[in-house]
Amino acid sequence: MAVNNTAEMEGVMEIPRWWTCPRGFDELRENAHRLGESELLKHSAVADQKSLYPRESLKAIADAGYGAVTLPIEDGGLGSYRAFSVLAESFAHYCGSSTMCWVMHTAAVHTLYAAGNKQQRDRFLPGVLAGDIGALAFSEPATGGHFWNVVSEAPREQDGYLLNADKSFVTSAGEADWYILCTNFPDTLNSDKLMFLVVEKDQYGISHFPFNAMGLRGNSSGPMKFEDVKVPFENRLGEEGGMNEFNDNVIDPLFLLGTSSCWVGIAQGALNAAIESAKKKVHADTGSSVAGYQVIRHELAKAQISIDSARSLLYRTAESMDECSRNGRELAECLYPLWQLKTHAADIVIQVTNQALQVSGGKGYITGQVEKFLRDGRAGAVMGPTNEVLREWIGRTLIEVPWFE
Ligand SMILES: Cc1cc2nc3c(=O)[nH]c(=O)nc-3n(C[C@H](O)[C@H](O)[C@H](O)COP(=O)(O)OP(=O)(O)OC[C@H]3O[C@@H](n4cnc5c(N)ncnc54)[C@H](O)[C@@H]3O)c2cc1C
Repeated sequence: MAVNNTAEMEGVMEIPRWWTCPRGFDELRENAHRLGESELLKHSAVADQKSLYPRESLKAIADAGYGAVTLPIEDGGLGSYRAFSVLAESFAHYCGSSTMCWVMHTAAVHTLYAAGNKQQRDRFLPGVLAGDIGALAFSEPATGGHFWNVVSEAPREQDGYLLNADKSFVTSAGEADWYILCTNFPDTLNSDKLMFLVVEKDQYGISHFPFNAMGLRGNSSGPMKFEDVKVPFENRLGEEGGMNEFNDNVIDPLFLLGTSSCWVGIAQGALNAAIESAKKKVHADTGSSVAGYQVIRHELAKAQISIDSARSLLYRTAESMDECSRNGRELAECLYPLWQLKTHAADIVIQVTNQALQVSGGKGYITGQVEKFLRDGRAGAVMGPTNEVLREWIGRTLIEVPWFE
């Protein structure tokens, strides 16, 4: 059986738009796909092969007006978490690396906005809207993915803080214009000593190291060292200690949503490539396309159902986050669904990219689009909070004991 390419063929079911994109966001999604196709895709393979930071792609995203999407419209954003998700999901079809750098940047910008004061916003946001990159330097080798329990410290000295910190993974390391560092202020009586400092790229005492990884190879997500870095008082976001609530209310919600969108997009991109390949390839002996085999069609169906289940969680959660912010409620209210969302999205991207490779046959295994989706998507489950940690929090919640000790 050869499979016809025309979607308009009589009897072909049309997939409702609202099922794949939240209502009212179709135009944004189309714009994002246009940008992905014309800009992100252009640099994607080279970024992967040469571990090159996708600077041009990130500039193109900022130039399109998406440098600070989660901020209110009056501050240069789109004021919507659904918009953030739609963009990240769409971009991920074209380049996992630039999407992930942009997601971490967006989380950093939102943290600066939420925890910073007016002077700090006025200082950094114009640059962000013009294409400056922000990054989050949280995880440390000593405590791994438990980035809320860092061991580094920044005590007070004359004009500010003396920061010493080892960071294990920082997306946009050595490439960002500024970093938000999560560290401890040792001199507080507060049991929560967590403090956020903005460190600018040209401050003395910063080094970064290469990122040699199986996927997301353009990310520059390598380690960083901050040695006796003098950070002025005016670069502290919020209080001297007591900043853990920002992890729950801002940072976790933003990057759990953003990274999940990226995994859904990578999974869909891989499946689309597999569908195309299965439709095109025809075996001369049987006269059948690969898509003509029922077992293959079932595999495609199973993969799509997995993606759509994650996408349903994604847009339902993003909508609830929009509702929280409209009504002045805290985003921590959405943490439980976000844990489920991230775990599921990071699980299904592994499953679906494997299915896509299998359906694509040997061509899928050869260096190129499909195997790259598989390598990029594999990062999801190990990125913090890791899937093991999240399942533990979900499980503890189910048996009604505190999720966090
Ligand atoms: C591509 C990429 C980009 C990243 N970008 C950034 C960034 O921009 N900023 C940043 O701060 N960090 C970043 N990270 C770090 C990330 O958030 C995690 O901290 C990191 O991936 C966890 O790795 P680890 O080796 O430190 O793991 P560990 O925490 O040592 O975990 C090792 C294993 O133990 C399991 N484990 C750990 N703790 C528990 C527990 N309590 N219960 C059960 N199992 C547990 C883990 O699930 C994992 O399987 C990035 C990581 C990657 C891979």
